[in-house]
Amino acid sequence: MFRLINASLWLIVCMILNGSKMKKNIVIVGGGISGLALLHYLNIRHYFDDEVSIQLLEKGSRPGGTIQSTREDDYLFENGPNGFLDNKPNTLKFIQEIGTEEHLVRASGAAKIRFIAYQKALHALPASPKDFISFKLLTPLDKLRILMEPLLPRGKKLDESVYDFGRRRLGRKFSELFLDPMVSGIYGGDAHKICLRAAFPRMAELESKYRSLFNAMIRLKKKGGMPQGTLTSFTGGMAQLMDVAAKKYADQIVCNTEIKTISRNGPQYIVYSQDTQYKADELFMCTPAYRAADLLKSMDASVSESLLQIPYAPMAVIGLGFANESFQCLPQGFGYLNPSSEKRKALGVLFDSNIFPERAPEGHLLFRIMIGGARFPDIIKKSKEEIINLALDEIQQHFPTKASPKKVFYRMWPKAIPQYDQTYVHVKAKLQDQLKQLPHVHLNANYWNGISFNDCILDARNNSMAIS
Ligand SMILES: Cc1cc2nc3c(=O)[nH]c(=O)nc-3n(C[C@H](O)[C@H](O)[C@H](O)COP(=O)(O)OP(=O)(O)OC[C@H]3O[C@@H](n4cnc5c(N)ncnc54)[C@H](O)[C@@H]3O)c2cc1C
Repeated sequence: MFRLINASLWLIVCMILNGSKMKKNIVIVGGGISGLALLHYLNIRHYFDDEVSIQLLEKGSRPGGTIQSTREDDYLFENGPNGFLDNKPNTLKFIQEIGTEEHLVRASGAAKIRFIAYQKALHALPASPKDFISFKLLTPLDKLRILMEPLLPRGKKLDESVYDFGRRRLGRKFSELFLDPMVSGIYGGDAHKICLRAAFPRMAELESKYRSLFNAMIRLKKKGGMPQGTLTSFTGGMAQLMDVAAKKYADQIVCNTEIKTISRNGPQYIVYSQDTQYKADELFMCTPAYRAADLLKSMDASVSESLLQIPYAPMAVIGLGFANESFQCLPQGFGYLNPSSEKRKALGVLFDSNIFPERAPEGHLLFRIMIGGARFPDIIKKSKEEIINLALDEIQQHFPTKASPKKVFYRMWPKAIPQYDQTYVHVKAKLQDQLKQLPHVHLNANYWNGISFNDCILDARNNSMAIS
């Protein structure tokens, strides 16, 4: 009898608690990969919770942010990211959960060789220790300097640039030939300014754990090696994933909705578009840093100021489609990068249709030229015509032809990629502290925990667990 009364009482208490449970509104501002992945993970996390409402508000007519694929005349041009490395199980699981696994395409084996432009000629980058020994751009002295790496002590500087890190461990020539173009290829950045610890944390971690990069390689090889990864995309281009995700969560996504201001009302935030207000108990900012700065300014000027200290590099992406017969010698391999010593406006060229053959019609090829970056920020002052001419000039330098392109694609990103530079580590630490003044506001975009597609998805997953 006593047990029965106890159980009934417990049931009543539960009913009262449930009855009084407040509905929680989660608002996501921005529908690039960061916002969409977050929407997915929050839905998984709150699958059984009727008391949670989740909405994603996106300025554009469709979600995707910088992920935009254009199909025209049987060419497929990527305006933003070209693909992602398939060595992160978290990304592959995300793709499977969204339902686009069957559309995955891996880079063709023929695109394995990568080149570097040096003194106006293309040189294949060494892919094995044997290639390295015969690699002509490094003198025997440069090679000896590289081989001294295991003898060197750990570095101490927290905000050391990628260039300085390379010079300290592997010599100046290594930094110039390999790290300088790698940084401009990934970040559109300047290797003298990009901070190793912020932009390539894994490399900094390996030095701190194993002292030497060579030692790290040997130790990790014994444990099964470092995952390499293959560049991967979708048959319909990168935007295919975004479109499928947008369809899956259509009833929670509001497009053509630019957020204008955000204010605070006690524990809640009020998010204002042109004509609607959204109440948020948890607010995720998935816009670029400079947009989050505008939107958070009226609530906390210091957060806004710090966000504005994260610089962005501009980038123009040009696609040039030609008939194969326009060239005596067709490009081989993946593409090439220009080290800054080449003094070119283009950061590099990808041979897109070698990587993913279905990106150009039969008998044609597609080049993708990246121009600008931190090295050439004045790109934003050039006209579209001037930029296309720069791209044509870049192609002519290594693949001379009298033919005109059959197809031209053009995309300018005035603020393409956030720069994890030497001030970044300090700005981020400051921001983490300042954000305590805005409880339940979360920053979730590519300027926070890595710029790559893979990083954005992982960060979204981690952030989805940050709320109770
Ligand atoms: C040219 C280029 C090439 C790249 N190549 C690669 C690559 O090959 N591989 C790779 O891994 N990564 C690559 N990246 C990086 C990667 O694509 C990006 O870091 C990532 O896509 C950024 O996603 P995000 O969601 O954080 O931001 P974004 O894609 O910038 O999304 C932000 C969203 O917020 C919305 N928004 C902004 N303001 C408001 C507002 N006020 N109200 C509502 N919505 C708003 C925007 O419309 C946008 O949809 C590349 C980036 C660029 C630019």
